[in-house]
Amino acid sequence: MFLSRGSQGSKVLALQEKLSQLGYDVGPVDGVFGPRTEAAVLKFQQNRLLDVDGVVGNQTWQALFDAPIPDMIPVLHDPPPERLCFDIFGDFRLAGWNEQNLARCDLSAWKEALRDVYFGWLSPGNRAFVHEGWFGFICHRLVAPKFQMAFRNAVARGFAGQLKTFDGCYNPRLKRGSSTSLTASGDTWSTHSWGIAIDLNAPWNAFGQKNFEMTQELAQCFRDVGFVWGGDWSYPDAMHFQYCTMR
Ligand SMILES: [Zn+2]
Repeated sequence: MFLSRGSQGSKVLALQEKLSQLGYDVGPVDGVFGPRTEAAVLKFQQNRLLDVDGVVGNQTWQALFDAPIPDMIPVLHDPPPERLCFDIFGDFRLAGWNEQNLARCDLSAWKEALRDVYFGWLSPGNRAFVHEGWFGFICHRLVAPKFQMAFRNAVARGFAGQLKTFDGCYNPRLKRGSSTSLTASGDTWSTHSWGIAIDLNAPWNAFGQKNFEMTQELAQCFRDVGFVWGGDWSYPDAMHFQYCTMR
């Protein structure tokens, strides 16, 4: 199947509907493949690391229709595998993604216990969760309730005192050690890019540090909610918890 500039009909209509559901500007949804639809296809192909030719062949069509419509994303019961992150959590490289997907993880219910969590190497000496009018941090809206449950576990089990620094959550970047080339394949993005990972107590749990300080008890507060802990990896990243598996 091929659709390109000048194509018309029900397939073009379906293409335009899907692209606009995903937030792309296709111009009028009228079944006519015009320049704006072509521009949207080019942008989608670029974002999804497909061949960027403005022609909708089988590869582009499949990538497009494998992507869930934002409103149809189900409540997350289990952490998805990494290869599905773009489909489940959306494409953080798209305009408008931040507004649609980032949310506050409100920790005000545990404010007293967590008030002395500071920024680590990001900004020493500042309380990390204290903001003008609210208490918490920014993350992906789908994972905010999971983060809340993990912090609730830590407080309820008496480990709040072990939480010393917050070292970041949402941060679109490649994985440590990955190429910085823009042609890097999708699986080299850090899970921080979607706001589904958090770093805690980084100064005492450096990337690769084998004798890290993070305790099993604190890690279990996150594991019990579904988070994967970097301290369990053969090359440990004990500061790191992510709501996503490596499979
Ligand atoms: Zn991390």
